[in-house]
Formats: sequence, C-alpha cells, structure tokens
Amino acid sequence: MKAAVLTEINKPLQILDLDQEAPKAGEARVRMKATGICMSDWHMMIGDWPTKLPQVLGHEAAGIVEEVGPGPSRVSVGDHVIFSFASHCGHCRYCNSGRSVLCNGHAAPGFLLPDGTTRLKYKGEQVNQMARIGTFCEQVVCSTENLVPVRKDLPWPIAAIIGCSVATGIGAVTRAARVEAGANVLVIGCGGVGLNIVQGARLVGAGKIIAVDLLDNKLEYASKFGATHTINGKTENVVKTVRAITDGGVDYAFDAIGSEATVLQIVDALAPGGRATMVGIPSVTVRAGIAPASMVFQEKTLSSSYYGSVQPDRDFPVLADLYMDKKIDLDSLISRTYGLEDINQGFEQLRKGGVARGVVVFD
Ligand SMILES: [Zn+2]
Ligand SMILES: [Zn+2]
Repeated sequence: MKAAVLTEINKPLQILDLDQEAPKAGEARVRMKATGICMSDWHMMIGDWPTKLPQVLGHEAAGIVEEVGPGPSRVSVGDHVIFSFASHCGHCRYCNSGRSVLCNGHAAPGFLLPDGTTRLKYKGEQVNQMARIGTFCEQVVCSTENLVPVRKDLPWPIAAIIGCSVATGIGAVTRAARVEAGANVLVIGCGGVGLNIVQGARLVGAGKIIAVDLLDNKLEYASKFGATHTINGKTENVVKTVRAITDGGVDYAFDAIGSEATVLQIVDALAPGGRATMVGIPSVTVRAGIAPASMVFQEKTLSSSYYGSVQPDRDFPVLADLYMDKKIDLDSLISRTYGLEDINQGFEQLRKGGVARGVVVFD
C-alpha cells in the first residue's frame, strides 16, 4: 500500500510501500479518493511544528469506507466520508460543549491513534499518522471519530478540500467571528484558507471585502471569490490603504498567514470596536508584540479560530450542501490535480504560490 512519508525534515516526501493492519473496534479502513496539499503539511516538512518521524502526512481528504472494525460503528461500508483532522472523543468538556475541535480526551499524541499506536509499518518499524489519520496514502485505517459521512453526489476533490481549507476559512467567518451582513472585512493571505475567508464574507453579505497578498495572481483569485478591493502588501501600505478604503478601519480582520507583521496589521487595520481573528498558524517560534493601549482605548478584540471553530459532524454536510446549491465556489479553488507519486511537485507549486489548491487524486 503506497503512501507519501516524511522520513526526514527538509527532505521531499518518499513514496513507500507500507504494511497496514486491519481496523480494530471503533475504527474503519477508508479507500482514499482525493487529498489536498496544504500549508500545514509543509510546516511539518520543514520542521516548523515539532513532531515524530517517520510520518504519513496529509489531513485534508475524502474517501469511501471499505471495512469497519468489529462491533457497532458510526460509519458503514460504502459511506462517502470526509476526514476530520480533529479528534472527537465525545466525552471531554470540549466535545460536550460544541467545541470538539479542541477535544483533549485522548492521552496519546496527535500522530497516534487514540489507543497510542498506529496501523502502519515500514520494514517492521511503526509509521506515524498525521492528525491520527495521515491521508497521503492509498488507504487509511483510523478511528471513526475522524470520519464524517456526507452526500454521495459530492465530487471527491471537493469533498477533500471541505475537510480543511474550506471549513477553516468559511468557519472562521460564520462560526468564529460571526460576521454580519454589511460589515467591512479584511483578509490577509489569499491561499486555500484565505480565499475561503473571502468567499465566506461574501456568503454572509459583508460590505467591503479587502484582500491582501504579495502575489498579484492570488489577488486575481481573491476578486473572483468576492473581494471588492485588493491590496498588494509588497507595494502598498496595508493599514493606511485599508483605512482609506473604509474611512477608518474594518469591522473584522482575518490573518490567514500568522507572521508577526500580519498579526499586527489585522489589529492596526480595525475600526474601534472591531474584531481581529488569527487563522493561519506559523512556526511555533513566532512571537508578535501588540500595543495593549490602543486595543483597550478602542475596545478592539484579538481572537483566534482553529479549524474554523466548526463542528465537523454538523458543518461538513452544511458546506457540502452550500456547494451543491452553488452558494459557494469550490471548483475554482482546485487549480491542479496530481497523482500520489507527483506529490512533491504539488508542494513545489504550493510554495511558489502558483495554485489556489492542489489536490492528489487516486484512481
Ligand atoms: Zn490543512
Ligand atoms: Zn473530546
């Protein structure tokens, strides 16, 4: 069974033939159909987020259930499922209060299944599974709590990207910040997540939607997804330009990057009473120095949203319906598809900013 495995930091993924165990109770085996290439995988590849190797990366994916472990199961053979990269133990205080993406009910680290092992081996050595799933793989055995059944008419690459970039971006607008109609919105960073923040803002009827990136081709994408204004952060002063466009600042600002500069920009670009939301996750070493005085005097809020603050079981089917009803555009997000063996090309393109989203598709 072929998988793209990270064996060493700062090296390309290796396509290896792994051995896989059958699903245990509460688990299932899913035949992979499509899996997105995301900046989070890249952060792992370059060592931004410490983890344990070897590891099958990949966390934005969809497939079809082929086998379920013994005993009762919340999924059935033949189900079409989107992977959730957040655990959902169902009994911790976060799962019980509608914030399952913060689930802390499992003691095992996030690269192991809840029982503290994985189902993958290479030449007898255990191979870890990113986010307890590891979807750069022809088939995945994982806990069924990471699987969300969805309608069967949803195209596979679309289903895959709902599992990370779409949920994260649209959820940041609708579930975390709760942007209201007419509000002015700033979005910094126009990759897979940022473009979904832009179209989330359009979905809820935001007023001005200002998109910022360093690449003009990404700003063109942003316009297509609903940005009313675009700013190239390389050539223009972001905060000054936002203030000029909005007569004093935006009501909501989102940072899909996570650098010190962009975190400060989303706070500085707010109107009094505005809310800034950090969405993009940088290296664990990044710090950002805010100015508390200006925040308090103007009652600004700096908040954050992980995984769009969604509840995957509730929100993935909602996002699928929004796509099928043509209320959100996910087709234009998928600019390229690859075979698993070409996955490193996909990361090359992601780094260059040449694609909105690249997706690996399986036969
Ligand atoms: Zn992702
Ligand atoms: Zn939990």
